[in-house]
Amino acid sequence: MATNQTFTMIKPDAVQDGHTGAIIKMIEEAGFRIVAIKKTQLTAERAGQFYAVHRDRPFYNDLRAYMSSGPIVPMILEKENAVADFRKLIGATNPAQAEEGTIRKLYAKSIEANAIHGSDSDENAQIEGSFFFAATEQF
Ligand code: UDP
Ligand code: MG
Repeated sequence: MATNQTFTMIKPDAVQDGHTGAIIKMIEEAGFRIVAIKKTQLTAERAGQFYAVHRDRPFYNDLRAYMSSGPIVPMILEKENAVADFRKLIGATNPAQAEEGTIRKLYAKSIEANAIHGSDSDENAQIEGSFFFAATEQF
């Protein structure tokens, strides 16, 4: 069932570098409404759980360390066609391949420290949103 919601988090490099406000401005100007937002920090264990789908990839341990290295800003966002439109707004995983004007093209430092996350399906958007926010915080 399409829900018109997606999940995102501004990653440690972008928060550390002071890009939180600029990124949220881009998100809002693209027509997304913020349903839930906070600033928090993952432990390496929690980061590993969030990215468990990648546990057999060579970058998994580095990713866990990076994602727990500093504060992040997770958000649940709402818009028609949210998942696909948000993936378009953030651009390719590797900033070298990201289109001009995308968040990753503007703010990502590397394929790992790539500034922002975006869910890849409606199902994962719900799972990932619930990972960070209790249902009572979402409405
Ligand atoms: N990642 C990495 N090296 C890679 C591929 C991915 O460090 O070769 C990191 C990067 O931070 C990426 C995250 O792992 O955003 C999840 O990877 P995925 O393929 O799901 O990319 P995304 O959906 O974030 O574009
Ligand atoms: Mg992904």
